[in-house]
Amino acid sequence: MNLHEYQAKRLFAEHGVPIPQGEVATAPADAREITRELGGKVVVKAQVLTGGRGKAGGVKLAANPDEAEQHASDILGLDIKGFTVRKVLIDEQAPGIDQEIYLAVLIDRAARRPMVMASAAGGMDIEEVAETTPDKIFTVHIDPSLGVRGYQTTYLAAAMDLPRELWRDFHKIVVGLYNCFMSNDASLTEINPLVITGEGKLLAVDGKMTIDDNALSRQPRLAEMRDTDEEPEAEREARLSGINFIQLDGNIGCMVNGAGLAMTTMDIIKLFGGDPANFLDIGGGAKAEQVATALRLILSDPKVEAVLINIFGGITRGDEVARGIVEALSQVDTDVPMVVRLAGTNAEEGLEILAEAEMETAVTLSDAARKAVKAAQS
Ligand code: GDP
Ligand code: MN
Repeated sequence: MNLHEYQAKRLFAEHGVPIPQGEVATAPADAREITRELGGKVVVKAQVLTGGRGKAGGVKLAANPDEAEQHASDILGLDIKGFTVRKVLIDEQAPGIDQEIYLAVLIDRAARRPMVMASAAGGMDIEEVAETTPDKIFTVHIDPSLGVRGYQTTYLAAAMDLPRELWRDFHKIVVGLYNCFMSNDASLTEINPLVITGEGKLLAVDGKMTIDDNALSRQPRLAEMRDTDEEPEAEREARLSGINFIQLDGNIGCMVNGAGLAMTTMDIIKLFGGDPANFLDIGGGAKAEQVATALRLILSDPKVEAVLINIFGGITRGDEVARGIVEALSQVDTDVPMVVRLAGTNAEEGLEILAEAEMETAVTLSDAARKAVKAAQS
């Protein structure tokens, strides 16, 4: 789950990271009032769960309450990469910006540890920095039983050529960002940019934070921060039905039980020259209703030109799945071709139900994938 900038920065601040004073507004008149209270010079920032807001016209400086109101009215309602802006953050302007630094804590899966990543090339897209000038990115791995050590932040500060008088504050910010990461079960805490202000102080002007969904049950405060307005409709429905659903760019919808089998299915589609439209795991022991929901979700994507259903019955029963498919097809009117491969528990019963409904079936996964790819191409 991703948090908004204002939520992330408030959590950072709880751990001693310096952030600008600010307040969220949902109407231009509120933006004016907040600006007046903050003393005049502010930055008006779209709160949407995507990056690159600056380039998209979602971050604007205002010199007075009038300007802030005007910017808020321009930004509210704006569409940024498919997200509609419903809130703006009104932050006190940084007193000049001398330098923009990138700083983040994330998990390095290969090293099985949290990692601190820092770069003096902040402010821009870090993926781009990683691609074009990877030598400008510095990292240290953190041993969770020790936490961030002084020599590690000294190394990062020196590598980035940070002015010597800022090293101590930089250390405190890294420790704060790391503690914030750990105590909130985050998979990312990121400041881009961490600026050196005209007054020579470090200030986190942007914030991004991703919480591990699996930890939300023990992080009730964070679970409540979920902005359901921002969640794509299909993903919300999937989440509430206990379905793992991630949309991709291809045109073959997949419905599979088990994450491993879902990956295999996507691989095989690719092997036969096709392109999966989604990853979808209905989980173990799915009932007909869940299957119907899953199929509706897949078919709600206009890119989908064929559907491959691959179920290996264990706890999940083939007849339940078949009933779910038939049920879903009675709810949605579609002419998208579908191929079903059913194996394992109650597969025979399932195949009978599908035969009655005149569904196309396949015995092996290769056969099913070949048929689905062909159907999508024609
Ligand atoms: P993003 O584009 O979504 O990453 O949004 P950011 O919050 O990072 O803002 C984009 C850019 O706006 C930053 O890199 C800064 O250059 C600029 N910016 C943000 N806040 C301030 C501020 O308080 N003062 C000034 N002068 N520029 C700011
Ligand atoms: Mn940014």
